[in-house]
Amino acid sequence: MKKILKSLVLFLMLVVSSLTFAKEKLYVGTNAEFPPFEYLDKGDIVGFDIDLVKAIGNKLGMDVVIKDMSFDGLIPALETNKVDIVIAGMTATDERKIAVNFSNPYYTANQVIILKDDNKDIKTFDDLNGKLVGVMLGFTGDVVVSEMKNVESKKYNASFAAIMELQNNKIDAVVLDSETALNYLKNNKGLKLADTSGEPEEYAIAISKKNTELLNKINTALDELKKDGTYESLLKKYM
Ligand code: GLN
Repeated sequence: MKKILKSLVLFLMLVVSSLTFAKEKLYVGTNAEFPPFEYLDKGDIVGFDIDLVKAIGNKLGMDVVIKDMSFDGLIPALETNKVDIVIAGMTATDERKIAVNFSNPYYTANQVIILKDDNKDIKTFDDLNGKLVGVMLGFTGDVVVSEMKNVESKKYNASFAAIMELQNNKIDAVVLDSETALNYLKNNKGLKLADTSGEPEEYAIAISKKNTELLNKINTALDELKKDGTYESLLKKYM
């Protein structure tokens, strides 16, 4: 009897593990330097986007595999099929829409100016005139500042590096997405926000143009997560 039970348990374990292995994988590209959307916590990639994409994976019955890479490598990784989708607080810009498709938006943000507490001469985007402004390479903030005349930009690969240089008076200001800026303010003393009236921009999940089936599935999953309260609870957890 014991023997039969043992083999039954073994058999069940085998079935369960083969089912797990049979799950299709969803390869997800991100850039884990954008708190609270994606960042490293003791070596683990965590954040709002990561929880959201795992919940989407659950809805689709797929195993989510996160791949961390540089922000400017994300769209090329989609185009060369190294990842299936990208979630990285990525703004669905017209320029990017030429290369990839975007899901329905899942978050609205805008560009803000981060300053040292004691700065008195910068209040609006116009006041950046003649200043040295830190931006992240290839971010929408980079595009906004590059379009401004008489503003010199210094480009960084990681936003924490720009914040450090601001704290050390190497640059006058940093232009960054609102939620991430607030996150830096929370965790660093001596900083403040100036103009927060920048154009709203919408974050969405990027998907290869060839994969419209996946695009539809992701939009459906997003809708469901908004309806069942998961989305709301993630906002509470991270924002
Ligand atoms: N929203 C900005 C952009 O799309 C920044 C995104 C990010 O740093 N992950 O360029």
